[in-house]
Amino acid sequence: ACFRTGDLNRVIQDTLLLLRREGERQRVTMTFTAGELPPFRFDVEKIKQALLNLVKNALEAVPNGGNVEICTATAGTAVTVTIADNGPGIAEADLPLIFEPFFTCKGTGTGLGLSITQQVVEEHHGRVTVASSRETGTVFTISLPAEA
Ligand code: ADP
Ligand code: MG
Repeated sequence: ACFRTGDLNRVIQDTLLLLRREGERQRVTMTFTAGELPPFRFDVEKIKQALLNLVKNALEAVPNGGNVEICTATAGTAVTVTIADNGPGIAEADLPLIFEPFFTCKGTGTGLGLSITQQVVEEHHGRVTVASSRETGTVFTISLPAEA
């Protein structure tokens, strides 16, 4: 692993650039609200992959004209990233399974995205959680310890 002190907001901006074209093609509004974050140590390439997996899933979930909102914030000594979409939500029966490797509801999905994201977050001693409903869509939250 390659942990270095970095600016997570900057890394998110870079990650979203990779998905901008796909977002535009789907007419999905992607917004990023960058909170004030302390500099902290993380593995840039791994965190990019973890974020990419979540934002890709959100893009795949929302209909044309949908919204994907990414926010960062500081909560005590932790940094949080939320990825919220107004897609169809995740069936309650599936919620305990989605982080399992190879669990997918997509015809051509690998089912690996969320398990990789969870692994990366755990390597950073953080947590990834999900809240989802048909009415409100899906919110994934990554929480990373950010003490200096
Ligand atoms: P894949 O995207 O290849 O299916 P993932 O591990 O990324 O694999 O996701 C596993 C499953 O979790 C998806 O197939 C989907 O059913 C569900 N899922 C993940 N993110 C979302 C989301 N934002 N909205 C609805 N369902 C989701
Ligand atoms: Mg995926």
